[in-house]
This record gives sequence, C-alpha cells and structure tokens, in this order.
Amino acid sequence: MNPAVPNRWFDRARLRRQAAELLKYYSPDYFSAKQRFLAACNRVGLAHQSLPIHAPSPNSEPLTIDIAVAGSEKPTLALVVSSGVHGIEGFFGSAVQLAFLEQLAPDWQPPEGAALVFLHALNPYGFAWQRRFNEDNVDLN
Ligand SMILES: [Zn+2]
Repeated sequence: MNPAVPNRWFDRARLRRQAAELLKYYSPDYFSAKQRFLAACNRVGLAHQSLPIHAPSPNSEPLTIDIAVAGSEKPTLALVVSSGVHGIEGFFGSAVQLAFLEQLAPDWQPPEGAALVFLHALNPYGFAWQRRFNEDNVDLN
C-alpha cells in the first residue's frame, strides 16, 4: 500500500457501511420512488406539481413527471436536478434526489433570487417498466 495515501481510502468495512447507508435511498420501483420523493418534498415545504403522461402503467396508478421547486418564482439563477430521462436510470437519479431532499433542513431556502428545481422521473413510463426508452420507444437524449 502506498504510504502517501491515507488508509481511510482502503477501509473496506467503512466503505461497506457507507454503501449500505446510501442503499436506503433506492426504491424498489417507480411508484414507491415517486411517493418517497413527494413525501420528502412535503417535509421541506417545496411547491410541487404532477404532470400525467398518457401511457400504459404496469398497475392502475398514473404515470407522472413530478416537479418540485424551492426558492424564487422568477429566479436569475436556477439549479435543475433531473432524474430518469432513461427510465431504468431513474432508480439511481431518484435516490440522489431523495438523499438530497432528506438532508435538507425543513426551513431551507436557496439564496435570494435563486431556485432549485427537481424533475423526478422525466421518463416515468421507462422508469415504471424498467426500460431505457419512453412509451413511443424513443430514447430521450
Ligand atoms: Zn442516461
């Protein structure tokens, strides 16, 4: 082992614990990911909107793109954090969004004039059916 590199980079037990901690943000399917995202948005008081898409769902629940915004309604600066443009990647992107939201203080706001925008599941059909493409078999990027 290179003595110039701190041992903490090679502490497998520590890395295993950290990975296990992060796994809690992953959801087993689109529907639970959406519910957890919305609950996290509600907890921190983010305004939220659901845009339904007209595509077959694997169950009776509608497929939606969910949008949550914090901060200015007319921002001069905005950070957009999207997930699931390729449906199957929604598991990871949703986990990142959930981890971010769950670590925010309940009264957190972006700096004056700025906004933080979350786009959850840009391809809800692909997320729900666990495929890259959308309901028209289109790769969205
Ligand atoms: Zn992708």
